[in-house]
Amino acid sequence: MIFAANFKTNHTRATTKAYIEALNEKLFTKRVQDSVYIFPPSTALDHYKGNFTLGVQNAYMTRNGAYTGEIGLEQLEEFSIKTILVGHSERREILGEKQEFITEKFSYFKEHGFEIIYCIGEPLEIREQGDEAVIEYLLAQFEGIDTSYEKLIVAYEPIWAIGTGRSATTEEIENTHAALKKTIQKPLLYGGSVKPENIKEITNIRGVDGVLVGSASLDVESFSKMVLI
Ligand code: PEP
Repeated sequence: MIFAANFKTNHTRATTKAYIEALNEKLFTKRVQDSVYIFPPSTALDHYKGNFTLGVQNAYMTRNGAYTGEIGLEQLEEFSIKTILVGHSERREILGEKQEFITEKFSYFKEHGFEIIYCIGEPLEIREQGDEAVIEYLLAQFEGIDTSYEKLIVAYEPIWAIGTGRSATTEEIENTHAALKKTIQKPLLYGGSVKPENIKEITNIRGVDGVLVGSASLDVESFSKMVLI
């Protein structure tokens, strides 16, 4: 199983350091076959040691240059970061990233050999139209994306389940993952209100290869409890 923690705009450099120290102690008994990823805010990237992969939540497709507010390869190389989240719904919806831009970003980081967790997800109005509409919507989010890329991990995150406390049902997750796996044969994570109370149920669903966790990953006790289920 893959357990990925997305801190979003939470935690500082100091609290991330404390989190990772605590996590390392707890992950001592982690199963060898499980992998853990931590995505702190960019200001907290550093040379951490431990049984996890440190990734970046976002970066711009450049080595360096005049891109105010962005970071590029040069800043990531400083900390040997080779893993990135691309296509998260908050970047699509709040930051206005369109599929064409996301595709360019994906291709750039693919060319530079990054492991990419590529996020897709449907809004509630699409979910309410039923399974067929959901799959059509999700597959459209692969437009321009090389789904054969060997370092690709996909995260299915229904937008209406992110940060709302309302996870998708077991049936919705199972059906959606099964349908996606017909087209994309890559590790497939589920994300959307995953928490210690539902982690067992979600990781037991056929076709779920791991989870991407936001809110419930912010507390190290809560996140490590999920990794050690
Ligand atoms: C996310 O945004 O990737 C996410 C899954 O958030 P949450 O766990 O808070 O729903």
